[in-house]
Parts: sequence; structure tokens; C-alpha cells
Amino acid sequence: MMLEVGLQAVNRTEDIPLEYIGTPFERLLCFHNLGAPLERCERAELLIGMCMDNRKVLRTPENFAFVLRTTGANLRHNEFRVSYALSIGGVRHIALIAHTNCGMVGLSRKLPAFVQGMIEVGWNEQEAREYFFQYAPFFEIENEADFVRLETKRLREKYPNVQIAPFLYQLEDNRLYLVEE
Ligand SMILES: [Zn+2]
Repeated sequence: MMLEVGLQAVNRTEDIPLEYIGTPFERLLCFHNLGAPLERCERAELLIGMCMDNRKVLRTPENFAFVLRTTGANLRHNEFRVSYALSIGGVRHIALIAHTNCGMVGLSRKLPAFVQGMIEVGWNEQEAREYFFQYAPFFEIENEADFVRLETKRLREKYPNVQIAPFLYQLEDNRLYLVEE
């Protein structure tokens, strides 16, 4: 399978970047991609931000991570939850995981389907349309990997003492890839 430019596969321990060795990012890659045994962790080490999309499941042990699932791994408007995991949960690493074929790409083309769907759950057409126009711009993304790169930068500025790394979950093979910056 052709890999998108700017992505790197992790198929062996040697593929893990040096700066991740000894961090929860290394452990995440070992658990999910490399089949490391799932031993229950003492305490949460990592905050994972990933899309709410139902097609993905991570292979990680109990207690390993806080997981915030939003549309497109977009943590805007979720900063209080992030801050909670950092301040009270004590984690110092955030993995942002985008995925291929994300529904937030090309969101504006989904207006008619959105409105129709909302009518079916009891909204009127105008209300649904206005709601979409008001919120869709906050959630639409152009490209999954690019978005997660930007989100990584944004959160690094907000939380300077936290290590943050972007990843991409490829639905076609259910594997995590490194997103080059
Ligand atoms: Zn998605």
C-alpha cells in the first residue's frame, strides 16, 4: 500500500524515533503496532486525543491512558479536559491520533445529509441549517495529517512542559504511523 507523504511506518522497534525511547509514545507503538504484552499499568502515563470514529480501536493495557475522543482528534474547546488530565492526572505526554478517511474532511459537503438527519431526530430544517453553519467551520479539517500537525503545535504552545506527538491511524491496516513534522 502506498503511504501518504510525511508518514512513517513503525513495524519494528528500530523504527521508533530515538526521542520517543523511554516515553509513553514508545510504549503506545509497542502495544498497538508491535504486539507487546498488555500488562496493567500502575498509573496513567499518557493522554490520547483521537477521533470518535467507530472504526478504530487501540490495543493498549488497562490504566495506560486517558482517552479523549472528539471529531477529528480536534481538542479545541476541550482544553479543560486536557488540563484536567495534566494537572490532576499528572500525565506529561499527549498523543494526538488522526485517522485516514475522517468524516471531518469535506464536512461542508455534508450539509444536506446533516439537515435531513437532524429533521429525523426532531429538529426543524432552518434550525438544523443554521446550527450547521454556526459549528461546522470549527470542526471541518482539510487533511487529517496536516490537521494533527497543527494541533500538535497549538497544544505545545499552550502546555510548554508537556511532550506532544502526532500520529495517524490508518484504517486500511489498523496501524499507527508517525506523522513527520
Ligand atoms: Zn474522524
